[in-house]
Amino acid sequence: MIASTTPSFETLEQALKHYFGYDEFRPGQRAVVEAAIAQRDLMVIMPTGGGKSLCYQLPALLKAGLTIVVSPLIALMQDQVQALQDNGVEATFLNSSLGLADTRQREAAILAGSIKLLYVAPERLLSESFLPFLDQVHQQVGIAGFAIDEAHCVSEWGHDFRPEYRQLRSLRQRYPQVPMMALTATATQRVQDDILHQLDLRDPFVHVASFNRTNLYYEVRPKQKGAYSELLNLVRQTPGSGIIYCLSRKKVDELTFRLQQDGISVLPYHAGLSDKERSENQTRFIRDDVRLMVATIAFGMGINKPDVRFVIHYDLPRNLESYYQESGRAGRDGEPSSCILFFSYADIKTIDYLIAQKINPQTGEPLEDEQRIARQQLRQVIDYAEGTDCRRKIQLAYFGESFAGGCNNCDNCLRPRPAEDWTIEAMKFLSCVARTKERFGMGHIIDVLRGSRNQKVLQHRHDELSTYGIGKDHSAEAWKILGRSLLHQGLLDETTDGYSILKLNAQSWEVMRKQRPVFVTMPDRKPEARDATLPQRREEAERLFDRLRGLRKRIADEQNVPPYVVFADSSLRLMAQSMPQTLEEFGQISGVGSRKLEQYGDRFIMEIISFCQERGIPLRNAASSAKPQDDASPGAPSLSSTHFYTLDLHLQGLSPEEIAEKRSSALRTVYDHLEKLIEAGRDVDLDALVPPERQAVIEAAIAQVGAFALKPIREHLGEAYSYEEIRLVRARWRSQSTAID
Ligand code: ADP
Ligand code: ZN
Repeated sequence: MIASTTPSFETLEQALKHYFGYDEFRPGQRAVVEAAIAQRDLMVIMPTGGGKSLCYQLPALLKAGLTIVVSPLIALMQDQVQALQDNGVEATFLNSSLGLADTRQREAAILAGSIKLLYVAPERLLSESFLPFLDQVHQQVGIAGFAIDEAHCVSEWGHDFRPEYRQLRSLRQRYPQVPMMALTATATQRVQDDILHQLDLRDPFVHVASFNRTNLYYEVRPKQKGAYSELLNLVRQTPGSGIIYCLSRKKVDELTFRLQQDGISVLPYHAGLSDKERSENQTRFIRDDVRLMVATIAFGMGINKPDVRFVIHYDLPRNLESYYQESGRAGRDGEPSSCILFFSYADIKTIDYLIAQKINPQTGEPLEDEQRIARQQLRQVIDYAEGTDCRRKIQLAYFGESFAGGCNNCDNCLRPRPAEDWTIEAMKFLSCVARTKERFGMGHIIDVLRGSRNQKVLQHRHDELSTYGIGKDHSAEAWKILGRSLLHQGLLDETTDGYSILKLNAQSWEVMRKQRPVFVTMPDRKPEARDATLPQRREEAERLFDRLRGLRKRIADEQNVPPYVVFADSSLRLMAQSMPQTLEEFGQISGVGSRKLEQYGDRFIMEIISFCQERGIPLRNAASSAKPQDDASPGAPSLSSTHFYTLDLHLQGLSPEEIAEKRSSALRTVYDHLEKLIEAGRDVDLDALVPPERQAVIEAAIAQVGAFALKPIREHLGEAYSYEEIRLVRARWRSQSTAID
């Protein structure tokens, strides 16, 4: 076995900061990492965005040998590997998208022990041709562990069963000593049990995280007339990327078209598009070329975009589990994000209709069990949407997790809607059902109550009833809410023969006899605009955030990676708030590991400094707090904002004299700065300061008398060469020799 060459860390937190830039573990991560290092089998159940990847990535870096990550989605693999490489981690993947030469090269790197993480699809891992290679890896470098991502694919009870996953247990027989870690975001007990069993995990350490995603804001809005303009406003007001889910392809296309007409940057995604279109649209979304995706639920599984800021369900989801998973694609990075559900009774009808279509194709008989389950699931969605309790409480209860409520991050907690006494209206409604002889549906009852003169009303002479027109004081919408509520509270019945005829029951009569009060929660008329005014400071940070996003996008495009690979939104936000102006300060931002500090520190600091200058925000003179950057570049002098300011002006083409004037500082100070910048290996244009032929002469002198003191060099060269020139050239000489060391 090849000994691992990993740097040693005193604490796991140090390793976390070094590789990933984070200061602390998320709940559960540390225990999992420890158990993995102790070679235990593991099952990790964490909601989307909980930070599962780190649970196997960090142990992989700290253990000897190669960790093999089984992942079902090729597109995702590439992104994950890119993100790791960007953190300076040796990771690679093998899948069918690679050519033979590339594959051979990667295999050689693995056998040479220079790769810590290998991502591979299950069918390849288990193929006859791959297993011998795996044996070789096992002998030469050692297999540190198997991490089975999306482990619910092993279960028929999950929503994404993949038969290949079943064969993964054969790895257990082949490599009995190698620990196995299963990871999933699936919340149901049945799937969890299945994973343990199917993968044959041995006395595993099981971590089940809370499914409460505290950063997500949940809201339900009535989908009334004018819902589209509400949606449009929402999209315009909420910055960042978003997904809008619709029930059908047709609706996706229609909504995309309308939004595009309204100038929104949006693309569609559904199964009716060609593979190529789909993958292009997806890539453009991930890379922030387009801000919004309107999609059927075919979209989202396996897209690894952590900075989705909102998910809107413009149509009703099929069940609460899907709602949780789909809306949960927002805010994987832990940043505040919104999940908005538009809810209408018309949608319930549509879904009800679809459920009734579930028939056995052979016999033509209804599939009663399936229909029953589907109706029950629909019922739960309706209860969620109509509920007045904390939304989280309802969702988590669905997953068997008890939550006290009062989350302060859902519409019901932030704007509680008191139940109103609608007894009188209920009496009117029910007596209208009675007067029309329980032979009509809700629409007609409401027409009668509101005094409509439509043909059906007149034809049945319902305009002559005592209940005709007694409900003009409320909108049809409000009556509908009352009617639905009576149904849900069991105070009224409705036939299920497809005609939805309203029928009275014993409780209806109690209401009509005034023996039973009726309370109804009416939805907000106008959802309040959130975040209407931002204080000045926050606005400044918002603008800088946008600037930094722009820079991130440019860097991402240069490197052909998704922007989040460069930095997460949360890191940009911290930068925008704390405005770091030195590498040291920058390195303290969560998400800035040692590799990213080195790669991107300068450019971001420059952007921040020029932002501050443009907007007249005083720069901190951070020279006093600056310490040598032993992490970034050993031996290099420490730099602070004042140096970067000089560098900035220099790169804008100003001469040292002009810089001195602009900064009202001594010319000597400017040369000091330039010298330090050069020595630290920054991009100073030395040719613009000292003509190349003069540089050559000065270098020759340094080579003869040494770089230590200035005076002997000057004496060697004579008066024709200034001390300034010598210092600059010497600085470059030094920077190069440190680099060679
Ligand atoms: P999951 O696979 O569970 O959906 P990821 O592993 O993709 O989640 O992590 C979600 C996000 O959280 C990523 O952007 C990741 O970098 C970030 N993250 C993970 N662990 C931490 C941590 N300890 N501190 C801060 N951010 C973290
Ligand atoms: Zn709540």
